[in-house]
Amino acid sequence: MGNKNTEIIKIDRHDIDGRAVAHCAEVIRRGGLVCFPTETVYGIGANAIDAAAVDSIFRAKGRPADNPLIVHIADTDMLPGVTSCKGRQREILYRLAERFWPGPLTVIAERAAGVPANVSCGLDTVGIRFPSHEIARALIAVSGVPIAAPSANLSGRPSPTRASHVIEDMMGRADVIIDGGECDVGVESTVFDIAGDKMSILRPGAITLEDLCEVVDGADEVDWRRPFGEGKNEAPRSPGMKYRHYSPKAEVIIYDGDRSSVVKRILREIKKRKFEGFSVGVLATDESICYYKGEGTVVQSLGSSDDSLQQASNLFHCLRRFDGMGVDVILAEALPSGGAGDAVMNRLYRAAGGTVVICGEAPETT
Ligand code: AMP
Ligand code: MG
Repeated sequence: MGNKNTEIIKIDRHDIDGRAVAHCAEVIRRGGLVCFPTETVYGIGANAIDAAAVDSIFRAKGRPADNPLIVHIADTDMLPGVTSCKGRQREILYRLAERFWPGPLTVIAERAAGVPANVSCGLDTVGIRFPSHEIARALIAVSGVPIAAPSANLSGRPSPTRASHVIEDMMGRADVIIDGGECDVGVESTVFDIAGDKMSILRPGAITLEDLCEVVDGADEVDWRRPFGEGKNEAPRSPGMKYRHYSPKAEVIIYDGDRSSVVKRILREIKKRKFEGFSVGVLATDESICYYKGEGTVVQSLGSSDDSLQQASNLFHCLRRFDGMGVDVILAEALPSGGAGDAVMNRLYRAAGGTVVICGEAPETT
């Protein structure tokens, strides 16, 4: 717990109180830290062109000094102050902006000289996003400066999708926490790198590779590898991807395979773990939750197995609830891939630190 006297300010995204926003904007301009909702997750923000304010974000989160921040803007007019990209990179950036902004896409492009190096941990690139959430947009616009903001969780914990999650992690550490209700998307933005030799997704999100490729016409300019399959042996392509992440306090194990094999295997594991004295949680779907009821475990559903957007919006809340209920181990069903499903599985893999049990015909492996 830090020693700041954190203010909690409730703002209705559909009826924004201009005076409350002006107050928060003043805190940003003075170099303070404001937690605010975006359409993806809550962020902890500071003036992106104030190096000392940026530094304080790393301290508040306990964030490793080599994990760069995303800079948020409220108008494409702010782009020249943030990126100095030219030529083909600039053309792609403006095309992506036109198609996906405001929205859950972060673009990595060449960093402008006016953006302090600590925002990007010394890289010559910068992550840029134009969020669609009404409160985020108002805060950035009234502050009049770009806002550097990672997710408003303590480093390594699941990202916050509700103000109560931010309060859990950031009381005493931020100057203001804006309570603006629940986030819509629930997983962080897609991070798309257009500064490398080949463009590539560094972190999957609600905007998919297929969506992005509609805008980038030269398919050979894009690296099609899926970031979430990224094995432990592959060098991380985004600095933030090398850390165990999004983790609840409980151990997480993923079970992948056909439904009946997965259910059988999880039921066996429940018995074993309970016998050993552990408190067990199961992360299931609406279709499978019935199999685990009455087993003396905490069972939560992420939603329908064919609705990846619903799963995304519930994931982090469910992980935090397991923690709140004192669960020691979370047994999680793998979810179907495709669309936002890839983003959900990416976060789940990281929460599990890569522990996946393959269930089915073949001999089981861990
Ligand atoms: P967070 O804001 O906590 O969601 O984390 C931001 C993510 O964006 C991390 O995974 C970073 O590694 C990634 N990121 C931000 N800026 C850059 C950059 N300049 N190059 C590569 N990845 C970046
Ligand atoms: Mg984060």
